[in-house]
Amino acid sequence: MDNKEFERLKNIYSQLIELVSTAKESDIMDEKLDCFFKMFQIVRACLEFSPYTHFYTQVLIDIIVKTYNTKVFRSDLLFKSDIGCFIENPEYSPNEFFEELEENEYNINLIMHEFTQKIEKISKKTHKKYMDFFETIRDLLIKDFMEKKSDLKERLELISKYSQNSTVKNLSTNERLYLYEAKRVFDIHYINTKPAHALFLDTKFKTKYICNNELSLQEKRLDVEDVVNLIKEKHIMAEEVYELANAEEQIRFELFKIIQNNFTINKCENCGKLFIPVTTSKNKNQKGRNDQKYCNNLYLDTGKTCREIGALNKRKEKVQKSPILKEFQREYKRMHGLHYNHTKEFSEKKFKEWSKKAHKLKDTYTDEQVQEFKTKLNELSNIYWK
Ligand SMILES: [Zn+2]
Repeated sequence: MDNKEFERLKNIYSQLIELVSTAKESDIMDEKLDCFFKMFQIVRACLEFSPYTHFYTQVLIDIIVKTYNTKVFRSDLLFKSDIGCFIENPEYSPNEFFEELEENEYNINLIMHEFTQKIEKISKKTHKKYMDFFETIRDLLIKDFMEKKSDLKERLELISKYSQNSTVKNLSTNERLYLYEAKRVFDIHYINTKPAHALFLDTKFKTKYICNNELSLQEKRLDVEDVVNLIKEKHIMAEEVYELANAEEQIRFELFKIIQNNFTINKCENCGKLFIPVTTSKNKNQKGRNDQKYCNNLYLDTGKTCREIGALNKRKEKVQKSPILKEFQREYKRMHGLHYNHTKEFSEKKFKEWSKKAHKLKDTYTDEQVQEFKTKLNELSNIYWK
C-alpha cells in the first residue's frame, strides 16, 4: 500500500468527520438518522480499503461523538484503544477525569444512542475548534495505521525468508512458533514456569461461537435424527470466531495463523508484493514446491495480472535467446499479415496449413542450424505466397 492509498483513506475519514459532526450538530432527528445510516456505508468503504481500518474507524467515530457529548477533547479514547501516539498540542492532552473513566463496551444500540443524543447548540468558533481536533486525530490514526502496516510488512518479509527454508518447514507447529519467537518475528511472550518449561500465548484473543441460522423451538423438539436432517438441510453450524480488540492484536493473530499453518510466503518478482502461493492440483503432490514467482494481482493499469505478465516476459526472453524462435516468429508475423490482408487469395485454411508445417519444420532444427532453417522456411512459405 503506497502513500496514494493512504491519501484515499484520509479523504474517506474527512467525509466521516463531516458526516458525524453534521449529525451531532443537527437538531432534526430525521437528519441525524439519515447520517447514521450513511455512516455505515462509509465504514463499509473503509473495510473494503483494508480490514485493519475497523479499529481506527471505530475510534474516530467514537472520539467525534463523545467530544460533542462531553464537550471535552476525548483523546483519552486513543489510548484506551491501545493506539500509541504522541499528541503535540497540549490542549488535546487526555482529560484526567475521562482517562480514569471506564468506557462502555461498544455496541450498536449504544452507538445509536450516543450518536442521536441531543447537545447544546454549537457556535461557529467551537465548530472550528472541534474540526481542527478531529483532523489532528484523523492524521494520528492514519500515521499509526501506516506504521503498523510497515511493521507487519517487515515481519512478513522475515517469515517469507524463513518459510522458504525446508528445515523450517519441517518443524512441528510448536517448534516453529518458538523459532519465530526467538527470531523476534512474533512476540509470544513466553513464560518460563520452572521446573517445566512452558510456552504460553500471551494474548487476549477471545474465542466466541456464532451461528449463521437457528432452528425454531418446535424444530428443536423433534427427534434427534430429524434435527440432524434439518441442520444439514439448513446448513446450520456453530463457528468458532476470534474477537480481536485492536489492530496490534489483529496483526499478531494473522502472523500466528501464518506460522501455525506453515504457509510459504513468496515475493512477486514483478511488483514486489508478498503473497502466499496457491497449491494447485499440478504441484500439490510435490511437497514444499512453492516456486511461483509472480502474484495474481492486477499489475498497475495493464489489465493483466503479474502472473500473466511473467508468462509473457518468460516467452519473450526465450524467443530473444533463440535464433530459430526469433526467425520463426518473424516469418509467422509476415505470413499472418499476408493472410490478414489477402483473406481471399491466402485463406484461413491455407494459413493454418502453413502454420502447422512451419511449426513442424521449426522443431526439426536446432539453433545452430538457423541458416538452413531459414532457407527451408522460405521455400515452404513460397509455396503459399509468391
Ligand atoms: Zn505481483
